[in-house]
Amino acid sequence: MIKSVAAGLAARGLGQGDVIGILSPNCIEYPIALHGALLLGCKVTTLNSLYTPFEVARQLKDAGATQLIVAGPLLETAKLAITNEGANLTRMYTLDAAAAVADDSSAIAIEPFSVLLAGGAPPPAAIFDPATHVAVIPYSSGTSGMPKGVELTHRNVLANVLQAKAEHVQLSTEDTLVGVLPFFHIYGLTVILNIALASGSTVVTLPKFEPELFLRVLKQHHVTVAHVAPPLVGFLAKHPAVEKVLPLPRLRELFSGAAPLGSELEAEVRARLKCGVRQGYGMTETAPATHVVPVASMHANDASGSVGTLLPGMECKIVSTENGAVLGVDQRGELCLKGPNVMKGYLNRPDANAESFDADGFYRTGDVGYVDSKGMYYVVDRVKELIKVKGYQVPPAELEAVLLGCDAIADAAVIGVQCPKSGEQPKAYVVRQVGHESFSEVDVAAFLHDKVAEYKRIVPELVEFVKAVPKSAAGKILRKELRAMEEARSAAK
Ligand code: AMP
Repeated sequence: MIKSVAAGLAARGLGQGDVIGILSPNCIEYPIALHGALLLGCKVTTLNSLYTPFEVARQLKDAGATQLIVAGPLLETAKLAITNEGANLTRMYTLDAAAAVADDSSAIAIEPFSVLLAGGAPPPAAIFDPATHVAVIPYSSGTSGMPKGVELTHRNVLANVLQAKAEHVQLSTEDTLVGVLPFFHIYGLTVILNIALASGSTVVTLPKFEPELFLRVLKQHHVTVAHVAPPLVGFLAKHPAVEKVLPLPRLRELFSGAAPLGSELEAEVRARLKCGVRQGYGMTETAPATHVVPVASMHANDASGSVGTLLPGMECKIVSTENGAVLGVDQRGELCLKGPNVMKGYLNRPDANAESFDADGFYRTGDVGYVDSKGMYYVVDRVKELIKVKGYQVPPAELEAVLLGCDAIADAAVIGVQCPKSGEQPKAYVVRQVGHESFSEVDVAAFLHDKVAEYKRIVPELVEFVKAVPKSAAGKILRKELRAMEEARSAAK
């Protein structure tokens, strides 16, 4: 089917180096679409299926995508991205054949994805250097600013699959995984989908997290390894409905990544599910895994809170956030990484690339951590701007830019605050425009509501009106000051 898709795309004008988007929740066609395009030498930009038309258009335009593979229920979003937001597409394929019925209102060709599976001439051979040819372009804000296209080469992605399989990940044809974390994100794409494909394991795909369905899949499909993010660990540790599916004798391992997992929660879920529990750490820019807890340590609580050891083929340097000095064992500093899985760079962003790599070619993660004498790493803080809500990226600069588009808002700053359910939540400090004194917290929340995906929205309780946003002489928002203020407030409570 992958070969058919490659041939079908070639027959419709796509070729090596062209960019195609995939906008879909997890489904069994996802890997066929992805690898069909990759086989042809296309670059694939994967989009969050929760995105608004504005967000979809922004990514498609920035990535230079000309065609899009889209889930039936998201066709409307894609059309609005074209008509209202200026996405420059020439053709779309819908994963749901019924959604592709001839549509006169659309200026571009819309075909069912199934036409690509019809076979036909073999795909033209793609000839490229896998070390430099870009395979996927997921989006990440990195340490600061707006979401940027992360250019991951064929080597980056393949290296990460092999790095994980070399020591830490032991999957076989006997394993069944649950594909509930989204494939558009590099964690779902590499750690679940590609590693499973490379291991011959089965993946049961879920379009979104629904408690009952998720639990039923764990039980009925005899899932052996479940990849989750910390909010799902919380659900499995605490929710009463979980009791109904226990015991889960075939569940060997719960693997958590994308955001920090507290050691108490880790121990709690280990005791309840009676399976191995371990963390992995990484980021979009490293395709993504860089650290994983070894199998031998996943049953013991003494490794709780650790993100594990460094994957083979990587170098990790920990540097002082004050003076850049290279630090030793047990000393906290910024993690900097080098290896075959580290991205080629941000697409069309020489400025961001210059900032993100140090003079020795190490990628600066913006995460603070330390390594102990046994080689186990701990991630304890973040010096980058990024907010993570349920493991999803919420770049403050993006919300600030949207807020500044409101007539009633003169200035705005956004930071993350702790939230027991989703890890973090965005909070906005807003300066009202003169003459808009009645503009309320609810109005701010309502203004954001339709412009950003649900997980990026700000609740009225987390809108605070201020006289001015603290800024440096150069005009940079002093988020540190806002964060310190929030910490002082919660300490005083
Ligand atoms: P993303 O590019 O969306 O995968 O986000 C990467 C960021 O998520 C990292 O730089 C960390 O800040 C955070 N992250 C991922 N995994 C972990 C983990 N196990 N513990 C703490 N933070 C994590």
